[in-house]
Amino acid sequence: MYTTAFLDLPPLRSAAGTVRLPGSKSISNRVLLLAGLSEGRTRLHDLLDSDDTRVMIEALRQLGCGIEHEADALVVTGLGGRLAVREASLFLGNAGTAMRPLVAVLAVLSGLQGGRFELSGVPRMHERPIGDLVDALRSLGCRIDDLGQAGYPPLRLAGGSPRVDAPIRVRGDVSSQFLTALLMAAPLLSVQGPVRIEVVGELISKPYIEITLQLLQRFGVHVQRDGWQVFTVPEASVYRSPGDIHVEADASSASYFIALGAVAASAQAPVRIEGVGAHSIQGDIRFVEAAQAMGAVVHQGPNWLEVHRGTWPLRALDLDCNHIPDAAMTLAVMALYADGPTRLRNIASWRVKETDRIAAMATELRKLGAEVVEGSDSLTVHPLRQVRAAAIHTYDDHRVAMCFSLAAFHGLIEGLSTPQPLRILDPRCVAKTFPDYFETLFTVVRAEVADIPVLTIDGPTASGKGTLAAEVAKALGYHLLDSGALYRAAALSALEGGVDAEDETALATLAAGLPLRFEPGRVWLGERDVSEDLRREDVGALASRISAHPGVRKALRQRQLDFRRLPGLVADGRDMGTVIFPDAALKVFLTASAETRAERRYKQLISKGISANLATLLQDLQARDARDRSRIAAPLRPAEDAQLLDNSALSIEASVQQVLAWWAQRRPFG
Ligand code: C5P
Repeated sequence: MYTTAFLDLPPLRSAAGTVRLPGSKSISNRVLLLAGLSEGRTRLHDLLDSDDTRVMIEALRQLGCGIEHEADALVVTGLGGRLAVREASLFLGNAGTAMRPLVAVLAVLSGLQGGRFELSGVPRMHERPIGDLVDALRSLGCRIDDLGQAGYPPLRLAGGSPRVDAPIRVRGDVSSQFLTALLMAAPLLSVQGPVRIEVVGELISKPYIEITLQLLQRFGVHVQRDGWQVFTVPEASVYRSPGDIHVEADASSASYFIALGAVAASAQAPVRIEGVGAHSIQGDIRFVEAAQAMGAVVHQGPNWLEVHRGTWPLRALDLDCNHIPDAAMTLAVMALYADGPTRLRNIASWRVKETDRIAAMATELRKLGAEVVEGSDSLTVHPLRQVRAAAIHTYDDHRVAMCFSLAAFHGLIEGLSTPQPLRILDPRCVAKTFPDYFETLFTVVRAEVADIPVLTIDGPTASGKGTLAAEVAKALGYHLLDSGALYRAAALSALEGGVDAEDETALATLAAGLPLRFEPGRVWLGERDVSEDLRREDVGALASRISAHPGVRKALRQRQLDFRRLPGLVADGRDMGTVIFPDAALKVFLTASAETRAERRYKQLISKGISANLATLLQDLQARDARDRSRIAAPLRPAEDAQLLDNSALSIEASVQQVLAWWAQRRPFG
């Protein structure tokens, strides 16, 4: 997961390959609660692991449900309809799929069995309306106290005496989650008789109600439905665990990859999505139809989809999006690639989601250069005719972050000016439903190598480039190349294999065949973790000698170039800016004095309990500097366009800030 302040996407050119998507949020949170209410144990497979499910699991744990991890499943031992805990304070983040049903269920249970429960969330959650649900529950006889503004969380559920002698009436046109919540609470009341729920006004987002009804059925509750207006839960309905239940991949998450296929994949190499397909119970699967209407070619099986580009530019659309409220945001970005304005209608519910999504999408699409018309319950997006490098604000809304990543393909629009990088601010917000969204995206998209930004940090031995490079890479979310480790690994292999330090041909062959594998903070040589051995003084000294051979340098060149992958690279070494990445966007050259460096190395060794002599270290350092500077192949020197940084008197933090400030100047985001 990217936890950086921002993530820059270079212009993207094509997409191909297979993705497996995380479980559906809507299904995960429903089955968690249903399992928590049932008698006995339920094994939940392929559950989504994200912010929204974590708050639900934590709430269940606080309510006394058993929660155990078992192989690839989460096992929930339910309450069997009896409260195990009578008082609890539950924090539910920004998860509407946790807040609404828990309010209903705990209002009813505390009314029937006694208890006090306080439910709260993040500030945005306290702006998301819940009044219609609260009114419906109060009309039943539940006691609910507003702890903040009336009609919004936080709330206290404090008993009362719920009775089902009259139908429960609830509005259906603000959020379908109100009805879902009542449907999930109704079986708890059905000891008193059948529970009738009547929807007032047009019911929006019906597919989500469909999911609720299907899952209630899996847990033994068969709701009778009369159109979309009246729902009846039979008398004496009881939740029964189905034993095992599998969660489908999230169809809303699939929308980004369907769009990817429609925009950037070819028939020969489509985008394949596994875990969700034609048999899905999720309403957002109908996004497939919308994508097809825009020109996508989609092949599908029961639980997979394959998508590639059909019509190009995409066909503009005028669509009532009530049936796919979440996935429709993806259409708003696909509209940039269409042959005319696309109008998304009947999306008023966007205004009460994680953020006001109509306003958010309009503002951010305009930043890119698109013309957008915002209606009270609609959005019209014109195709992109000019493009600006934009820093996209994401409003703590996972879907804004995910769908805007698709705008990075604007280089595919004919006649547009030079493609621009795209900045996604606060990329961490995708953790709500898809923590590894960007990592997954990068496995199936390609950019031109020249467009993938590189930042080089060169300098002499012990100048602190390794630490600096690692920190800068972390701040930018970029890959890290420690090129010294390649020379050190070759040296270690040569030492252990008894290869002569002057035998250039043998060393080059050895370097070319090294079975090297890099993991964050670790280096593997075959099956062996050599991270510690590579730091040895004898290994470093030999690395310095063998790196003077042009044949060795040549053998390691391609491996270094291969590190240039999406979204970008920070490379440290001696010749990163001069030889390997001469087109790097920023080149830094460290110039701390030999004395300072020797002292640092000395302190480092002493702190590790290794005895050392300052004078010897200084001598050794100077010898290495001399060798690195005087060698014929790639001698150590700053690139002409390098920024010199004397970090002798700077803290690591200050050096990092300096490099990031230079980086910011070179980026087009202002
Ligand atoms: O940076 P580090 O000390 O790990 O590098 C080990 C040795 O590898 C250096 O002394 C240097 O001679 C050599 N090297 C190189 N070119 C690079 C990185 C390291 O010649 N890009």
